[in-house]
Amino acid sequence: MPEKVVIIGSGPAGWTAAIYAARANLQPLVYEGAVGNPNYIPLGQLALTTEVENYPGFPAGHLQEFLRTALPAEHQPYWVQDNLDQPGHGITGPALMELMRQQAVNFGTRIITDDIVKVDFKSRPFKLTPQDNPPVEALAVIVATGARANYLGLPSEDAFKNRGVSACAVCDGALPRFRNRPLAVIGGGDTAVEEATYLTKFASKVYLVHRRDQLRASKVMQQRVLDNAKIEMKWNRVMTEVLGTDKDGVTGVRLQSTVDEQRDMLDVSGVFLAIGHTPNTDFLQGQLALDEKGYIKWTKAARTYTSVEGVFAAGDVADSYYRQAVTAAGTGCMAALDAERWLAEHGLA
Ligand code: NAP
Repeated sequence: MPEKVVIIGSGPAGWTAAIYAARANLQPLVYEGAVGNPNYIPLGQLALTTEVENYPGFPAGHLQEFLRTALPAEHQPYWVQDNLDQPGHGITGPALMELMRQQAVNFGTRIITDDIVKVDFKSRPFKLTPQDNPPVEALAVIVATGARANYLGLPSEDAFKNRGVSACAVCDGALPRFRNRPLAVIGGGDTAVEEATYLTKFASKVYLVHRRDQLRASKVMQQRVLDNAKIEMKWNRVMTEVLGTDKDGVTGVRLQSTVDEQRDMLDVSGVFLAIGHTPNTDFLQGQLALDEKGYIKWTKAARTYTSVEGVFAAGDVADSYYRQAVTAAGTGCMAALDAERWLAEHGLA
């Protein structure tokens, strides 16, 4: 018997789709990603963050008791196990994702900790091939594999991730470590200028480091940066090293000119990479229509339909624009409702 709905991916979009599909009696099966693959990690990009202060429903408070009762022991965050106060406002990314996962499990979602490495959407039921488990057939599929932030790939950048190196100013910018400190943003697109502008709310100064002498960002957003006294442009430069210590995290960056041999250094307490994202769509091997950047195309306005009937997409894998946990959760809900209605219309559920 084919599965009614298989969900690929385990970020906010995947779990929200699972919660809705489970409550619609579709007995969803989620492939949450294999442990050890940096591209499709279980629990998505939020598993790599610290505090999430902008997900509605989690104001500052003491979450220990709730987490202790909501999550099984092996899924408790360290600060609950160690009886520490909840760090900062909101909730941590990993704890939020564990709660979503558990909520899906509580309504009957089944989970396989594996990657889907191949799909066949050309015949029905659809066939999905996991890396280490037997193939599975599905009447409907929800793809929610997300996108990963691009990094430059410097070893020092990796060493200071979550200790001053971030790829999301909206997520991390307000953290105490960045307050009233100089910060650097790397990139020249809309995200870079938006993040630089946003960070001026907290930082003492923001350096915007771009590899050319012209921004790619839209004119109106460029002007906002150029008019902001707290932002200093560092044109024609790339970052070659993140400097820091175990105790303080990031303390500076080394820059190299792209037009001559000049090198310089900036004293900063944080570096925000804004050099684009890569959607996790390789495993689709051309079977769904993608946009020019590789994101899945939604083919119907305000719906999560893709180019193949019965395959739906949710979250960052189809959204290069908003990329927020709450918008991913929203489209996850839409995908489950779209799948439920589509299955009913076709007499499949
Ligand atoms: P993007 O437009 O692809 O810009 C990426 C930037 O990073 C470019 O300036 C690029 O430099 C630079 N870059 C890429 N690889 C680099 C490397 N290895 N080293 C140094 N710099 C590198 O990506 P985005 O800014 O994330 O925007 C994505 C999409 O979302 C766009 O369509 C954008 O318009 C949209 N967006 C809109 C808004 C808004 O309207 N409020 C906000 C955010 C994003 P080059 O310019 O030299 O290529």
